[in-house]
Amino acid sequence: MSILGKCPYCNSNVISQKINVKGKNIKLYTCENAKKEYDESEQYVFTADSTCRFRVYSNAFLRWNKRSFSEYEMKKLLQEGQTTIRLHGKKGSSEYFKYIIPHEEYGVSILWEEEVS
Ligand SMILES: [Zn+2]
Repeated sequence: MSILGKCPYCNSNVISQKINVKGKNIKLYTCENAKKEYDESEQYVFTADSTCRFRVYSNAFLRWNKRSFSEYEMKKLLQEGQTTIRLHGKKGSSEYFKYIIPHEEYGVSILWEEEVS
């Protein structure tokens, strides 16, 4: 576990954790106040003492063929309030860049309208 920076919503620490999802090892970058657990009906929900929802998985951009969102990129996002990521077209050939910003509910949000110069 390592501390990556401060949560943009509650100013607590954002930490990095290694987790296993469906047999795959990925990282979870989570505000210390945004904890999830399985409830009695096996739903993965925020714990009763969670006061924040800010969580980002390292595979958040898999749909756009970015395999891993790194700790370094997450640190930069927390420090600067936005960062640039590299995404790829379907066949992995055409790469393009987009800005991302934190999102209180979804963790991160891609600014599709903005061109990266
Ligand atoms: Zn927070």
